[in-house]
Amino acid sequence: MTSCDCDLAVVGAGLAGTTLLASLRLAGWQGSAMVIEVGRGPGGRASTRLRRDNPHWRLDHGAPVLHLQSGGGGALADLLQKLEAMGAISADTSESVCVGLDGLQSLDTTSAGFDAGGSCWRGRPTMGSVAAALLDLAGDSVIRRFGVRVQTLQASDRGWDLHDQHGQAVVNARMLVLSGNMLAHPRSLAMLGLANRPLREACAVGLDPVLDQALDRIASMRMAPRWNRMLALSAEPAEVASWPRQIVLSAAASQQWQLERLVVQPMADDSVGLVVHGLTDSVPVPMDLLSPWPSLAAAVASADDLGVMRWGAARPLDHPLPVDLQWCPKVALGFCGDWIDGPGFGRAHGAMASAVALADRIVEHDALVASGAMA
Ligand SMILES: Cc1cc2nc3c(=O)[nH]c(=O)nc-3n(C[C@H](O)[C@H](O)[C@H](O)COP(=O)(O)OP(=O)(O)OC[C@H]3O[C@@H](n4cnc5c(N)ncnc54)[C@H](O)[C@@H]3O)c2cc1C
Repeated sequence: MTSCDCDLAVVGAGLAGTTLLASLRLAGWQGSAMVIEVGRGPGGRASTRLRRDNPHWRLDHGAPVLHLQSGGGGALADLLQKLEAMGAISADTSESVCVGLDGLQSLDTTSAGFDAGGSCWRGRPTMGSVAAALLDLAGDSVIRRFGVRVQTLQASDRGWDLHDQHGQAVVNARMLVLSGNMLAHPRSLAMLGLANRPLREACAVGLDPVLDQALDRIASMRMAPRWNRMLALSAEPAEVASWPRQIVLSAAASQQWQLERLVVQPMADDSVGLVVHGLTDSVPVPMDLLSPWPSLAAAVASADDLGVMRWGAARPLDHPLPVDLQWCPKVALGFCGDWIDGPGFGRAHGAMASAVALADRIVEHDALVASGAMA
């Protein structure tokens, strides 16, 4: 292969993409890297919405907590310890309650949007701080491109060429990692107005048998959307202190009201954000649901509606990508994200654990390249 502009291009600066870059640096990998993210900052589905008219407003409009399974051990545990020492995460000790069709009930694994396994962590000061801290760990040498959507890919003996939505060249890299699966999934056809999946277009069938299997598997994956309504509430601090942070609905209540949970988030200026995690668009908050907290019901009734964040692929549902298809050696391409098989599938844990595992594969690949065993 002729020399490339950069060793590694990572598409996506969510938890997986940023964990990968941090893990590579902590493993002593010395290559050059660029991360390209369509959003305005890092975080992806664990990011934070700001408001131009209020500098104190930072609303976690995606994942409100990180569910991390115990027994992760090794490099992931080390990374989490580093994030904790940096003050970017801490254990979530706030109150979560469960509401069923007959009122309050105990929180268990049947509650929508709640995993009883593992522990709950919060980003500090916000969820978006976690990916930002991971990028800090990755170091200043990682080039960051925000607000850029990678739209097409080309693979050749010059490595990977990435182009944006305007057809402009973004980077030429020796290795490529996709931390989201959009460029490999059939939903890219409608979303990007393309005739073929960008990754399939870039690599003919047979070029890398691992990639062919991975693309088949990815094509069968289904993802669940979420509609998160963001509300600004006014209430006295004493009232806010009496509200639980998360009101999780039981499976039956979730089906009835088409809601997954409500998450309260006090802001630095005494205003309060509420994110209503909806299973469909435009779901009203049923006042029956809030009857245990009359002051919260009153605040919701007079709330400012800040709009809906639609997460088109909030959660992968099935057909996780097997770990042996995570790295395609012939074309030097890797995948990470919460859609890779393993503990924490569909959760923050899955995103981070898959990235830690992929970092090992990249280090191994580069050792083979350096030894001359691989071109
Ligand atoms: C509403 C909601 C609630 C959740 N609640 C929880 C919870 O309570 N606990 C928990 O553990 N997890 C929760 N999750 C799941 C958790 O947020 C995800 O598992 C995790 O954030 C996934 O990280 P990721 O890096 O794999 O993917 P993402 O965060 O999706 O990152 C992929 C990134 O790639 C970018 N990207 C994709 N394609 C391109 C392209 N072509 N060009 C440029 N950039 C691109 C995207 O913009 C995105 O930032 C929740 C998710 C949602 C949406």
